[in-house]
Amino acid sequence: MIQTLCESCASMREVITPKGSRFLLCKLAITNPDYPKYPKQPIVRCDGYQKNEQTWEMLSDESAKR
Ligand code: SF4
Repeated sequence: MIQTLCESCASMREVITPKGSRFLLCKLAITNPDYPKYPKQPIVRCDGYQKNEQTWEMLSDESAKR
């Protein structure tokens, strides 16, 4: 499966619905209409991407365990 950039982006906020569905909200959409609030996944290229160091380390650790 293709990893989406949003997972490790500082602008992403995870939204879990009461039924357990998971959506990735792009906080850039609040200030910039060029970005959709819920970008269609996976995102493989994005000019607004900014690496979230904390999440990046966590994802790297998970990949290393596989
Ligand atoms: S800026 Fe791009 S990579 Fe970051 S959450 Fe928004 S759509 Fe995803």
